[in-house]
Amino acid sequence: MGKPTGFMEITRKDAPAISPAERVGDWSEFGIRLPDSELQQQGARCMDCGIPFCQTGSTTGSGKALGCPVYNLIPEWNDLVYRGKWREALNRLHKTNNFPEFTGRVCPAPCEGSCVLGLIDKPVAIKSIEQAIIDKGFEEGWVVPQPPDRRTGRKIAVVGSGPAGLAAAAQLNKAGHWVTVYERADRIGGLLMYGIPNMKLEKGVVERRVKLLEAEGITFVTGTEVGKDLSADELRQNFDAIVLAGGATKPRDLPIEGREAEGVYFAMEYLHADTKSLLDSSHADGKFISAKDKHVIVIGGGDTGTDCVGTAMRHGCATVTQFEIMAKPPEDRAENNPWPEWPGIYKLDYGQEEARAKFGDDPRQYEVMTKKFATDKKGRVKELHTVQIRWVIGEDGRMKPEEVEGSARVWKADIVLLAMGFTGPENPLLTAFGVEQDGRSNVRARYGDFSTNVEGVFAAGDMRRGQSLVVWAINEGRAVAEAVDKWVMR
Ligand code: FAD
Repeated sequence: MGKPTGFMEITRKDAPAISPAERVGDWSEFGIRLPDSELQQQGARCMDCGIPFCQTGSTTGSGKALGCPVYNLIPEWNDLVYRGKWREALNRLHKTNNFPEFTGRVCPAPCEGSCVLGLIDKPVAIKSIEQAIIDKGFEEGWVVPQPPDRRTGRKIAVVGSGPAGLAAAAQLNKAGHWVTVYERADRIGGLLMYGIPNMKLEKGVVERRVKLLEAEGITFVTGTEVGKDLSADELRQNFDAIVLAGGATKPRDLPIEGREAEGVYFAMEYLHADTKSLLDSSHADGKFISAKDKHVIVIGGGDTGTDCVGTAMRHGCATVTQFEIMAKPPEDRAENNPWPEWPGIYKLDYGQEEARAKFGDDPRQYEVMTKKFATDKKGRVKELHTVQIRWVIGEDGRMKPEEVEGSARVWKADIVLLAMGFTGPENPLLTAFGVEQDGRSNVRARYGDFSTNVEGVFAAGDMRRGQSLVVWAINEGRAVAEAVDKWVMR
């Protein structure tokens, strides 16, 4: 622990950002790194707690997250940063996390929710420090390919190149196995590439890591859908083990009157096309759904919805509104959401900040239920019909929505984006391998050994646990690699 009194003397300082009004003018990341001296001060706020809840990576009985899912050695690297030992800090960080440049940018930071200092003050700025360590590492040229010294001769196929597939590939390659990653999209990265928008995670950051992995000996094959372009049998014949890391991107639909209207899209149709067009041609090819001068309604108040808001803002939408079915969260932790659980409190994420800067208010409308899409004569969406709801306890003791009488409302809409979450993995890949699914339609494979009902076929990431977080995908990728290594070397 660098400075025993640091937490009493130094206040938290977050990394600054380009103002919301200015940053919507382009698609670049908008965070600004604090100077080294200030980051060192922030590291000094860490108390090196006897029990560092920040790095526990577990869940409570009620399923709430506690601490870092990849067990980052947070107090250790906070101390090293405080002492100016950035390179050692980077080595500590890479011990637990293959891709801190991703988590440092997009992780919601459950570590900070569990920071002991958070009990009496603002938590340590862990996420900003993590990003600074790795960004500095790249700038200084400390992050270089590290191919394994020897090869085992075993061959592993990884299906899907999101953070779970990439982490599994990185670890298996490190163990000396020959790894080939198959990806159906034209670029590697899964939702890091074609889900999370560029302003949150610049795609050059993803490509930089992929180049390193390639230089370490991993083979990447894009534009190949396993189960369609390449059969499951072929893969099983040519590889000693297979890791399925295809994600969970089957979108939840809203089958109400008018759903077939033109102008109603799934969020991922909007986000994927936008990033692809941005990367292919800086949007010059026009192969994206433009929200310019349009009235946009996003149904769904989560992260995907926020990314739709941020994207629509950059297109220059006329208005943007975001519907959330749940009640507005409290400003402070609720009694049933104590530290060190992830705090379910109200916050303005980047997209909402940007909408507020332009239109004057948080675009979210809470406890709104959409009843109907109304169309014009050409079948294009023109309005959304909603009611206000309230949450009440039903006869079975569970919360259920109840419509508020007289609350019907009509909203003007040219584009509607459905961002209501995901119901599980897409089936063709699973059918091709004959793997069993659980009650939530995810691949049935126990955490720890990750094996499916098909011998030699393993599953990890969202495909196994359901739509989650990048940091959990990295956790699962690392853990499945350990299980596969044991299996192929048995
Ligand atoms: P994915 O990232 O989904 O990757 C799966 C890959 O498998 C895809 O590239 C897919 O094309 C490929 N694939 C599927 N089937 C096949 C096949 N048959 N053959 C070949 N390839 C196949 N998490 C955060 O922590 N922070 C965020 O800010 C955040 N923002 C998000 C924003 C959006 C819009 C979305 C949708 C999710 C977000 N998440 C965020 C969640 C996070 O991105 C995912 O939990 C994570 O990417 C899951 O990783 P994965 O590797 O399991 O799967």
